[in-house]
Amino acid sequence: MMFGLSPDSPQCSRAGCSADASLSVVWRNPRIHGPERRKVWLACEEHAEYLRDFLASRAFPVVVERGVVDGSATALPEAAA
Ligand SMILES: [Zn+2]
Repeated sequence: MMFGLSPDSPQCSRAGCSADASLSVVWRNPRIHGPERRKVWLACEEHAEYLRDFLASRAFPVVVERGVVDGSATALPEAAA
């Protein structure tokens, strides 16, 4: 399975899902990433919530953005709920 941005048809990051991505789950791991660091998982409509919950359950700051973004303009909350 390929990960990362494809200029043609970015796909969902969820294992086993090959749907086109329409959302970006932007996050970082505070233990290993600096405050300016952003990780992005692309997601389809069905799996964005699953991926967000997966990260939120680990107390990682996470924001779901509509569309495919690189996260560079995303403001992450510093304290996860
Ligand atoms: Zn999906």
